[in-house]
Amino acid sequence: TGSLAEGDKEIFEAINLELSRQQNEIELIASENIVSAAVMEAQGSVMTNKYAEGYPGRRYYGGCQYVDIAEELAINRVKQLFGCEFANVQPNSGSQANQAVLMSLSKPGDTLLGMSLDAGGHLTHGAAPNMSGKWFNAVQYGIDTDTGLIDMDDVAKMAREHKPQIIIAGGSAYSRHIDFAGFRAIADEVGAYLWVDMAHFAGLVAGGVHPSPFPHAHVATSTTHKTLRGPRGGLVLTNDQAIAKKINSAIFPGLQGGPLMHVIAGKAVAFGEALRPEFKTYAKNVVENAQVLADTLKNGGLDIVSGGTDTHLMLVDLRPKNLTGKAVEKALGRANITCNKNGVPLDPQKPTITSGIRLGTPAGTTRGFGTDEFREVGKLILEVLDGLREAGSDEANEAVEKAVKEKVIKLTSRFPIYGG
Ligand code: PLP
Repeated sequence: TGSLAEGDKEIFEAINLELSRQQNEIELIASENIVSAAVMEAQGSVMTNKYAEGYPGRRYYGGCQYVDIAEELAINRVKQLFGCEFANVQPNSGSQANQAVLMSLSKPGDTLLGMSLDAGGHLTHGAAPNMSGKWFNAVQYGIDTDTGLIDMDDVAKMAREHKPQIIIAGGSAYSRHIDFAGFRAIADEVGAYLWVDMAHFAGLVAGGVHPSPFPHAHVATSTTHKTLRGPRGGLVLTNDQAIAKKINSAIFPGLQGGPLMHVIAGKAVAFGEALRPEFKTYAKNVVENAQVLADTLKNGGLDIVSGGTDTHLMLVDLRPKNLTGKAVEKALGRANITCNKNGVPLDPQKPTITSGIRLGTPAGTTRGFGTDEFREVGKLILEVLDGLREAGSDEANEAVEKAVKEKVIKLTSRFPIYGG
């Protein structure tokens, strides 16, 4: 009982600090976004109190009539959004959605073919330290290091050689459209399932500015909190009734217990927002802004892996300026610009250092930045990088970083979020 401010000053304070960090920083982490007040209101609601193991209309607990409304709305809206016949909106995260696919379509020891982590794939696609890498025979394709693009001939060659049970398309740091039809042709040739993990670009598919995994994928998974701009969570989609049944059993009781009904309510709100015409404009702006940011950085002397982007994200190769991802992430952070270091193809640096950064436009675009603002963001990044070089690459250039931080705060205060 009582308010957070009175009842728990420490957490209240931490939340307020996080709020002002988000308000006063330019968020360029490609996997993050800024949810609406409505999404947060649904997520912070009484639905957090409810146990609802099972699915709408078939629960293992009483009193589920109202959470059923929320889950049914979430399912119907996301089916409409992606033109799909089946959706499971219960996965607590993208990783759990992915585990459900593995549990439904394969058994431990089976062969998986996914994109390697260093080429831009995700941990759950067969990386060695992940369950998908430990419990499965994971083989991995990379990218053509000259073009930065997925080499479909290599994917086909590996598929023929290893005969995977599942082929995975999609990644966390790949900035180009993926040839879903080409992947499906390879999957059909070797008798594999095609699973598309569209966690990163789902919002672009929903907004009609990115090819859809369907009808090519047997199954698709996503997170709900990246370009899709919902609460943190996952989902699974398919048009295959037999796979749908297996997915439902894999999520519950296979992997999870009681679903997070407050989060599912938040997902329903976000899917409703994504169905509105404004979301199409948003998605189009996200991609345009990414292209402007990539061009600005290229003109300033940096390389962009694959030469540019078709999506919301880009991988910046810092080697032309002799800088590391680690030093740049820190320097930009001191200037209130948030991003993450990321390896580039054939990166000579360790994964803890790297030669690149990954940048994305979903959050900035949500707060209202257009192409003018992203051109300015690009220039601010270049200012920090050139300052860092002047200071000897690993030392802070306090004067430059302070000056850029002031410009960042001016820019963010012109585009307030959550009332400030
Ligand atoms: N799949 C891809 C392609 C991702 O990029 C991510 C998150 O980074 C995930 C799955 C996992 O999502 P979560 O962090 O919600 O487990």
